[in-house]
Amino acid sequence: MTTKAYAVTSPTSPLAPWSFERRAVGPLDVQLEVAYCGICHSDIHQVRNEWGNATYPMVPGHEIVGRVTAVGAQVTKFKVGDLAGVGCLVDSCRTCAPCARDLEQFCEKGAAFSYNSTEMDRKTPTYGGYSSDYMVDEAFALKLSPKLDLAGAAPLLCAGITTYSPLRHWKVGKGSKVGVVGLGGLGHMAVKLAAAMGAEVTMLSTSAAKEADARRLGASGFGLTTDPATFKRLAGHFDFILDTVSAPHDYNAYLGLIRLDGAMVVVGVPPEPTPVAAFPLIMGRRTLAGSLIGGIQETQEMLDFCAEHGIVSDVEVIPVQQVNEAYGRMMKNDVRYRFVLDMKTL
Ligand code: NAP
Ligand code: ZN
Ligand code: ZN
Repeated sequence: MTTKAYAVTSPTSPLAPWSFERRAVGPLDVQLEVAYCGICHSDIHQVRNEWGNATYPMVPGHEIVGRVTAVGAQVTKFKVGDLAGVGCLVDSCRTCAPCARDLEQFCEKGAAFSYNSTEMDRKTPTYGGYSSDYMVDEAFALKLSPKLDLAGAAPLLCAGITTYSPLRHWKVGKGSKVGVVGLGGLGHMAVKLAAAMGAEVTMLSTSAAKEADARRLGASGFGLTTDPATFKRLAGHFDFILDTVSAPHDYNAYLGLIRLDGAMVVVGVPPEPTPVAAFPLIMGRRTLAGSLIGGIQETQEMLDFCAEHGIVSDVEVIPVQQVNEAYGRMMKNDVRYRFVLDMKTL
């Protein structure tokens, strides 16, 4: 069976139609027809080889939702016609210490990612969800509640879990004062999720025009980060800051906003390193940490949390032919708040 897709062939080429063959349905495989695929800023970083790890041709896309069209003989979790989701992870060694703790994203052997990666054989390239269909081992496929709008659920598979996981790990809950830096795909999910967990959320944004949206999404405060007065007003205010920014910026300034023993967790991955000074860390015994997506079990927990709380992403659904334009708009911070490709248009 031929899979239709959009791919890039070099860091400077636009996404364009391409086709390839996926593997035949194995005994534990679930095949899905991709209905929607979200556009994550990580797609742009990788397409343009900003992290230095690109392999071409590359079919991006790791926010994949659709209906199951075939299952292998030993599959028990899914049947044909079910909704299913696939995020960034498609396999791991399943035996190392992190895998045993359901933290497959940190697999010591190196997990298999849904694109710009290989299967665990380290040979077979993986191609992502800007495509007509996907094939995945059932252990790495997620159950989706029919209660959730399907297009809006797609970004939960990356933007959702990437923000949910650190909020849980750092025990954000009722009474926590949370700052979210950057109101894009990840940032808007962080606001919704932290608010649903009971936190008091402040949006820290370079875009004054996003204030009303931030408040509608669940933030009770807003700080314009292009105004130095914001850093004075909110000094020492937060228990926890989640930094979702995709471009280089000064971590030190944000560290000053954290109270004693608080933490700032970086999930955004700017291509260039940023210097961090000792003083903003030693003052207030602050922690600067990072977080990478989330394991499969926690991704399912997040999807169930979203179904329970009626949370989906705010999406602009576009035909796949507009993907290059969408990338251009994301580079100008012009996304409210996730582009999702309608894969029927392929
Ligand atoms: P996005 O939708 O493009 O949003 C990024 C936001 O960052 C923008 O909307 C903007 O918000 C802010 N921003 C952009 N340029 C800035 C600058 N120069 N200075 C300050 N703020 C700036 O991107 P996304 O899809 O949410 O992804 C965000 C980052 O997370 C990317 O680097 C992506 O690769 C990374 N990511 C990491 C993981 C992980 O596991 N750690 C998973 C997924 C994605 P304002 O207009 O509000 O300032
Ligand atoms: Zn992503
Ligand atoms: Zn492992």
